Amino acid sequence: MLLLTLGTAAGGGVPQWNCACPGCSGARAHPDRRRSHDSLAVFGGGQSSWFLINAGPDITDHLEAHAELRPGAGSERTPVVRILLTDAELDHTLGLLRLREAHHLKIFATAPVRQALRERLALDSVLTPYATITWHDLPPSGQTPAVAAGIEVSAVPLSTKRPRYAADAVEDDTWVVAVRLHDPATGTTALYAPALAAWTEDFANEAAGADCVFVDGTFWDDDEPKRLGISARTSTGMGHLPIDGPGGTAGRLAQLPGRCLYTHLNNTNPLVDPSARQHRVLAGLGLEVAQDGMVIEL
Ligand SMILES: [Zn+2]
Repeated sequence: MLLLTLGTAAGGGVPQWNCACPGCSGARAHPDRRRSHDSLAVFGGGQSSWFLINAGPDITDHLEAHAELRPGAGSERTPVVRILLTDAELDHTLGLLRLREAHHLKIFATAPVRQALRERLALDSVLTPYATITWHDLPPSGQTPAVAAGIEVSAVPLSTKRPRYAADAVEDDTWVVAVRLHDPATGTTALYAPALAAWTEDFANEAAGADCVFVDGTFWDDDEPKRLGISARTSTGMGHLPIDGPGGTAGRLAQLPGRCLYTHLNNTNPLVDPSARQHRVLAGLGLEVAQDGMVIEL
């Protein structure tokens, strides 16, 4: 399977339109530091087509930026008709509205995410006058996986964190999931977890067996959002395990056999500056920071 990182930023992107913090200012001065909302394109090889994990507000820029995702011959015109979702957050789902010109969209999501998008964001009633939408279950790993473009896909439940627009919805541990991708042709497995609230036993087991793991790199340390005044909560309190420190993910990822990359970086994360010392800390642990536009073959 081929993985293409379309975007690697948390909500707002880097730079964020209403922010002039050092990370955002640095990205304005150095365009190569810009990061768009996290999204991963996946290709199963052979005659299959690409599919996306998460559809943020940058989605049509993402599709235009990569020749393999642009339209061509064939009845579907575009190679992208399948979208998998890790959660119902606006930064991962607003792009669905930008795909209204599609003939047919197939959306794979867990039950609470589907329900939030259909009932609270009214995606069905807004989009179906334009395009045919079909909803597909993203079953928990261990059950019979769904198949998208030749790749077996399933969900690793991570947390009950609901988007603010669905804060009163019923708790369920599949509100936020990691997507597990398994290519039966090559026997390889990847995990995509841009929002990791807790290092659960299920996630630990799946990560230990994966060839490549993308992990929540929203904040470097647990106090970052409080210290920089963007939240009264810690990183963990906001549903994102920090990278560094006790309970951080770096120490755990360093023990894994597969390739590990951080994604979903917030504009406050010192890693958005390529000269930051924190890059050397991660390199010393054998860990990587994903960039927009990386291609990984598994
Ligand atoms: Zn900023």
